Amino acid sequence: MSQTADIIIANAKIFTSDESNPHAEAVAVQGNRIVYVGDNSGVETFRGEKTRIIDGQGRTLTPGFIDTHVHLLWGSIWMGNAELREVKTKNDLKKILLDFADKNKTDEWVVGRGIRYDIVSTRQELDEIIAERPVYIGAFDGHTGWANTRALETADILKDDGRELVNGIIVRDENGRATGELREADAMRAIMDLAPFPDANRRRELLKLAISEFNKTGITSVHNMNGDMEELMAYAALEDAGEMNMRVYVPYHVKPEAKEEDLKEAAEMAKVQMDYVRGGAAKFFMDGVWESYTAFNIDPYADDPGVGIVAPIFSLEHFVRMASICDKMGLQIAVHCCGDGAVRQALDGYEAIQKMNGTRDSRHRIEHIEVCQPEDMPRFKELGVIASMQTSHAPFSLEDDQVWTKRTGPQRWRLAFPWRDLKNAGAHLSLGSDWTVMPFDPMLNIYVALNRRELAPENPDQRLTLEECIIGYTRDAAYVEFMENEKGQIKVGYLADLVLFSHDLFEVKPEEIMTAKPVLTMIDGRAVFEG
Ligand SMILES: [Zn+2]
Repeated sequence: MSQTADIIIANAKIFTSDESNPHAEAVAVQGNRIVYVGDNSGVETFRGEKTRIIDGQGRTLTPGFIDTHVHLLWGSIWMGNAELREVKTKNDLKKILLDFADKNKTDEWVVGRGIRYDIVSTRQELDEIIAERPVYIGAFDGHTGWANTRALETADILKDDGRELVNGIIVRDENGRATGELREADAMRAIMDLAPFPDANRRRELLKLAISEFNKTGITSVHNMNGDMEELMAYAALEDAGEMNMRVYVPYHVKPEAKEEDLKEAAEMAKVQMDYVRGGAAKFFMDGVWESYTAFNIDPYADDPGVGIVAPIFSLEHFVRMASICDKMGLQIAVHCCGDGAVRQALDGYEAIQKMNGTRDSRHRIEHIEVCQPEDMPRFKELGVIASMQTSHAPFSLEDDQVWTKRTGPQRWRLAFPWRDLKNAGAHLSLGSDWTVMPFDPMLNIYVALNRRELAPENPDQRLTLEECIIGYTRDAAYVEFMENEKGQIKVGYLADLVLFSHDLFEVKPEEIMTAKPVLTMIDGRAVFEG
């Protein structure tokens, strides 16, 4: 007896991400699974009276996209703040903040997010825009924030009281008064802890809003790269209510002050293995970012050698002690590493852990890898470490990103965001956005991966092909979360997470790839977006 499909998509240019069967014309879905992948004539036997038939019109169909690095809950809460990503001048900032303040008159605080590094640097500049209400704006990468005088006073950090922060710097002038610039988590938290936090209902609303925006860009799964049991439960509550439209993998964030017994929470999270929401990993930060001089570098900063070599957030000994416990528990480990020193130390740590605990299919990972020394590249393959990279972070040109390129300097540009070099060295490469650092739209990340120009003519070409981009966002991203037998490919028996695009992607010029948009996103056999 032939099965009857609930949905058939025919006449499509299907890119399956399945090497044994890379291209097809038609796919049939029954319930939440793919039951047929092949040509148009073969799919006919799955057609029933109630089958929904979708004409692919010769456009590309791919597996649902998996973004292997986002900050979902965090980001969704940010969606309730003023959006500053498009701000290019102080005047733009003024206009948006005043407008936002006006729309939110009853709130005391004015909070913005997503601003670039070169717009404001002092509290006085913010005071000129709004002085009477506390104002705080966060950088696009989440590593620096700026506050006006009122906010600094409210937090009682305007004057120096000699307090030392574990992870963060309140930048001060020669008189010891805060300049308004706050670097890294503890400094930003001094202010953000005071700003109003949306209540549970509003948080749920914002989370659903964020997920629907992800679905519009073809994303059906994400790795939420920081979290705890409470955050995982927020996602689980949506799944329990039948309202979850994205699969979320949630590592436990191991903070530098964490004790060994805190890791039990990670083990508890790993037991959560629902259809949409899963634990199973631990996330560490080895360093900060180049922009705020907190990246753990091997050679001094090009524009300020006086900064010296930045200390990592975890010493090698500390990292190995905590991460080896996670490894023993069977957890996957992910480490944020922007500097080349951080990348090397994480690899050293993984090597030490392998010696202690033995080799297993651990799929530990390094996130970002903004600079990597050539001798460290083959170690990814040797140690089975995944390179989880976000292509849209790479400076597109010298004019486009002056801060990052100044900090690193021409000597390091040939080692910058080396995804092609790492792939050639045998590293398993997965792609993502690190939203809210950059927009989550995979097309933006693919655009940069296809079109990136090198910063200097002698730098190696790091571009990827469209096939490699799609595979990095689907099959290879599923592998990163141990789900390569369930999703990430259009294959019989796999979950029906699919995206139909507005174009045949392979016919679009690389520089025009962002004109292509999803017209249908399906998760678990359900259409969650139709445009
Ligand atoms: Zn991140």
